[in-house]
Amino acid sequence: EALIITIDGPSGSGKGTISQRVAQKLGLQLLDSGALYRLVALCSIRQAVDPDDVVKLAELARTLPVSFKLGSEGVAAFLNGEDVSQAIRLEEVGLVASKVAALPEVRAALLERQRDFAAPPGLVADGRDMGTVVFPNATIKIFLTASAEERANRRFNQLKARGESVSLARLLEDIQERDSRDMNRQVSPLKPAEDAVIIDSSQMGIDDVQDAILAIVDN
Ligand code: C5P
Repeated sequence: EALIITIDGPSGSGKGTISQRVAQKLGLQLLDSGALYRLVALCSIRQAVDPDDVVKLAELARTLPVSFKLGSEGVAAFLNGEDVSQAIRLEEVGLVASKVAALPEVRAALLERQRDFAAPPGLVADGRDMGTVVFPNATIKIFLTASAEERANRRFNQLKARGESVSLARLLEDIQERDSRDMNRQVSPLKPAEDAVIIDSSQMGIDDVQDAILAIVDN
């Protein structure tokens, strides 16, 4: 039996960093499911697919020539062998990702691909519906959240450190828009699984969150 730890939550809650750290610490595989939606989005932008062409988008999702490789900078994503790790992190791609993620056909096309990541010794799965839909029988389910203001602040500081200038108000707006799309969509809306442990990281540092999760795993 593979140990499966799901870490769900809204954009900017720190899931990505935490999932990487927990996976590394415990020697488990990592699934960044958001990257899959971002890869579908990137492909659709590059191929100029009509955002309403559900059939084409689902086919993209089903046939996406993607691979992941663990490097020093975390997990790198490859499309047809091309390293697109940077490209999929662009704000624009994230916004398109959250739109394609609202399509049931796209979600269905990615379901088995996500489950294929679960192999011994185990997996940390990062996303929105890991505990509710993709791995309902997960060993441990975490729902990691933080206030929208705090998440916008963190993102602002990240971008500033990279030398990108953005407005904080604009970031907050984007986060709220994405939250509402993630929470209100018909399929797999963002919500904690009934058996999830909810961690609000608004007042916690990343190390505190890591310790809290590892303590749950140890129990
Ligand atoms: O987590 P990340 O921001 O990389 O995810 C990009 C988009 O993909 C999110 O805005 C969300 O709408 C969608 N997503 C999803 N289900 C997941 C992971 C991500 O709908 N399991």
